[in-house]
Order: sequence, then C-alpha cells, then structure tokens
Amino acid sequence: MSSKIKKKNNIDVTVDYKNVTEKSPKILFLDIESSPNLATVWSIWNQNIALSQLLETSYTMCWSAKWMGSNHVMFDSVQKSGKDGVIKSIYALINEADIIIHYNGKRFDIPVLNREFLLAKLLPPSPFKQIDLYQTVKKKFRFVSNKLAHITEQLGFAGKIHTTHKLWLDCMNGDEKAWKDMEKYNKRDVTELEKLYKRILPWIENHPNMGLYMHKDRPVCTNCGSHKVQARGYQLTKTMKYQRFQCQDCGAWLRGRKMIPRPDNKENILTQVIT
Ligand SMILES: [Zn+2]
Repeated sequence: MSSKIKKKNNIDVTVDYKNVTEKSPKILFLDIESSPNLATVWSIWNQNIALSQLLETSYTMCWSAKWMGSNHVMFDSVQKSGKDGVIKSIYALINEADIIIHYNGKRFDIPVLNREFLLAKLLPPSPFKQIDLYQTVKKKFRFVSNKLAHITEQLGFAGKIHTTHKLWLDCMNGDEKAWKDMEKYNKRDVTELEKLYKRILPWIENHPNMGLYMHKDRPVCTNCGSHKVQARGYQLTKTMKYQRFQCQDCGAWLRGRKMIPRPDNKENILTQVIT
C-alpha cells in the first residue's frame, strides 16, 4: 500500500509503507541542572529584584541523559566542555531522540534548552514527543509532595542524592570535587527517572502510540509496544461501543478503533441535547 502526500510546494512525496521497517523509537531520559541567577540585593525579605540588580542570568551548567535499553548514563558540563560545548552536546542528542522523558521538563528543561539553542544561534532541533512524568504524578496520584525526591523515596527507589545550594555555587567556582558530586547527583536523577517511568507506565495518558512506531501485523500496546494484549470487555463512548483490551505486560488499558456494529445500525441510539 502506498499513499501520496501533497506538500505545500506541490512536490509529490510517495510513502511506501511496505518498506517501512519495524523499529522501536529512540527514547531519551533527560535532566538538566541550571545555575542560579546572581543578583545584588538590599534585603532578603520579600524582595522584588529589578533587572538592573542582576549580575548574571541562569545558564545550563550540565545535563545527564540515558537511552532506554542502554546502561550507559551520559553527562556533560560547562566544566568539561565549556558553555557552548554543553549546549551543542545536548542539542546533538535531542536531534537523535524520538521521545524525551523528563520530570517537569515541559515547563522547565525543554523551554530552558530552547532558550539556550536560540542564544547559540542553533535551529530548532528535530521534532520529538515528550513524556513529562511530573504531569502523570500530579494528575493520577495524590502524594503529599510531587517533588521527584519524595515520589522516588515513597516508591522505595534509591532516591535523589541530598545536596545543598552550596554545591551549585562551588561548581560555578570550578571546584573539582563539587563537580564530581554534581555528576553523581545529575546521573542519579536520570536513573531514578527511568525507574519511575517503568513503574507508572500503565498510568501514563496520551503516551506516544508505540503501535505507530512498530508496524506489526497484530495489535500492540500503545504504552509499551507488547503484543500481549487481552480482550477484556467493552469501552463505551456516548454513542459507540469498542472492544477493550488490557496489556498483559505493562497493564495499560486500551481500546480498538473499530466500532462494534449493532443490528439496528445505531438507529435506536439517541444522544442528549446539551444547551
Ligand atoms: Zn503495555
């Protein structure tokens, strides 16, 4: 089967789906650490700091990342590669990723990196899907705190490494020992992120559909890509009925896209008028 997509510039591009090979997406776990903004202040209580009081704005000090399926945890820092180098190394990695998994990265890590890319005169990286585990934790569960440190501790993981603000300042001053501690801290966040992802996988809503990356000849789980899906009841919408499934590997609930036909051809289904 092939389909023709007409592009804006009137060039016909033919996609031959027979030649699309089954390939798992490249999934990257990512966490960045930023320096604090530096400012001169007259007092410490309820300060409204003017831009003229800023000495130095925040910059990306380091990042840690890991590909799903690999044991290697990567790290780069301004100490190792300089301010430009640390941005270029993460830019290259993001360009390879199909999906990026982070914790509050939709509000923090990704916009911060976008700012860095703009300042470095880099073009937008190739598009990727995002899975922000913070959003799943906040929406699906009620923990007393949604901080990664608390969640990972509650789930019995190794937990975040405890640090103080001084670690950031020592790193900014080029302290070698502090940078070793920062590397451990940053890498631990990434390994904890992967554990959290695997644990809450069936709870993640709107997970990028693994079935679209993997052209299998049978249905696969949207969240983990397993073909072990079992038919379990029906999923009803206001006017439609679909087969429901549960993934036997991760536990996610799924539904088919084909409507279960009715003998009356839906003639006896009414729907409410909402005014
Ligand atoms: Zn699954």
